[in-house]
Amino acid sequence: MVIEYVGETIRQVIADRREQRYEEEGIGGSYLFRIDQDTIIDATKCGNLARFINHSCNPNCYAKVISVESQKKIVIYSRQPISINEEITYNYKFPIEDTKIPCLCGAENCRGSLN
Ligand SMILES: [Zn+2]
Repeated sequence: MVIEYVGETIRQVIADRREQRYEEEGIGGSYLFRIDQDTIIDATKCGNLARFINHSCNPNCYAKVISVESQKKIVIYSRQPISINEEITYNYKFPIEDTKIPCLCGAENCRGSLN
């Protein structure tokens, strides 16, 4: 285990409203992490260091939803040994959309976009 992705647990309706508001406020990069169909973790205004972990198409970590005392949590785990000063990354696994967010991960197998 590397770190838990901490934030406010919110439902889809609230996430939609907040996403729109954050866009209007010009808050770059949305820190909304989907747990399941109707549960989202919003780390925009209260989160921890996990919110700064970048996406990579060839990551050294992965995100997994686990249950702790019947509460769902997102935890970042390592896939392999990680060296000192090596950047920690995981695959965001964003759903495919028409409006593409370019990927700048630089991996050999980079798929070119996050979504
Ligand atoms: Zn990439």
